[in-house]
Amino acid sequence: MKIDLSKIEGEPIRFAETIGLDANRLDPTGTIGPMEVRLEGIVRPVGDHFIVDGRTSARGELSCGRCLESVDWQMDSTFDLEIALADEAPLDPELALGEADLDVVYLEEPLLDLDKLAVEQVVLEMPIRVLCSEECAGLCPRCGANRNVEGACRCEPEADPRWAALKDLAGGTPAE
Ligand SMILES: [Zn+2]
Ligand SMILES: [Zn+2]
Repeated sequence: MKIDLSKIEGEPIRFAETIGLDANRLDPTGTIGPMEVRLEGIVRPVGDHFIVDGRTSARGELSCGRCLESVDWQMDSTFDLEIALADEAPLDPELALGEADLDVVYLEEPLLDLDKLAVEQVVLEMPIRVLCSEECAGLCPRCGANRNVEGACRCEPEADPRWAALKDLAGGTPAE
């Protein structure tokens, strides 16, 4: 959904939306399935600008950084931003870097895209890596089996490359 800012005439507008975001709009490698995001807040005209205050909450499943199994995740955070229309953007980039303008978002059209806002807020909060548990054993580097499952595979442990180098120095594989 988009909020038409040109329709705001002096009065603040409230919004409250539940948005389903596909994994490919978030982090496709770390997100499993769609994430349900609740976005609510208020848009207030202040002079030529708009101030948006809101709250984002989301829940979904991320994938474990070691074994790729799903891990429940949820977030709840608040945000505030200032919006100006692009035609007001200072032409001189030096001016655009003024302290007070740091958090201003310039929009080409007077439309506040709530889906996009939801994506930005969720991505900001998403951890770079989650683990299903601190002890997660991950996947077998040889066959890809989930080593948290007992008896997942019968692969030998990876040879330590440092020992392999020592064996080479000793002139071949020692007899077993
Ligand atoms: Zn795991
Ligand atoms: Zn294996």
